[in-house]
Amino acid sequence: MNRVVSGFGMTSQRTRARMIERLREQGIDDEEVLAAIAAVPRHVFVEEALASRAYEDTALPLGFSQTISQPYVVARMIEVLCAGGRRLGKTLEIGAGCGYQAAVLAQLTDEVYAVERIAPLLAKAKLNLRAINQMKVRLKHADGRLGLPEAAPFDTIIVAAAAIRVPPALVQQLAPGGRMILPLGVATQQHLALIENQGEAYVETSLDTVRFVPLLTGVE
Ligand code: SAH
Repeated sequence: MNRVVSGFGMTSQRTRARMIERLREQGIDDEEVLAAIAAVPRHVFVEEALASRAYEDTALPLGFSQTISQPYVVARMIEVLCAGGRRLGKTLEIGAGCGYQAAVLAQLTDEVYAVERIAPLLAKAKLNLRAINQMKVRLKHADGRLGLPEAAPFDTIIVAAAAIRVPPALVQQLAPGGRMILPLGVATQQHLALIENQGEAYVETSLDTVRFVPLLTGVE
């Protein structure tokens, strides 16, 4: 069932516009990224009981001990990937969760693959993306630490769960000129890392301190 309820105060255009203003105040200034976030109705992706909080800039529970990413962090990661006027191109997301970030990515590029290890969450992502009529995202139930070899290489890889070290398969699946962003570290000490495949070399840059759920092994 389509849960987009127009005219519902808390999920109104005005509430969404306020979220975008807050992202600007926090330093997000890529207009394309802001437009992509503005275009995705986040309330569709959260539990109905939490819909009124969907446009707060906060992570919210998804069930299965997972959370929907905070809008600021989604915006920040995508802004870094797009810096210098770069296009996202063929994009792989690891940790699709409820599909929110995949929907934002699909506003910015035509080729989005998203992998999730928890089957019921993947099913939710499918329903949510269908509810907003977003049919572009190709979802797969798999352990994302192994990437998605059948669709590699990727121009962009974005990881939504924290790894202790960079998964080698993901580096191998990054196209020349490609960029990957991922949270690295353990629960209390994580930072975003940007990895660029410059052909001859991989260049890693450490960015903001963050807090993500861990990147786990295997599927369930
Ligand atoms: N992108 C989501 C964030 C979900 S939280 C959003 O837009 O809100 C991170 C997700 O990563 C969880 O759903 C978790 O199950 C998933 N995850 C953790 N380890 C994984 C792995 N090895 N492969 C695929 N998904 C993984």
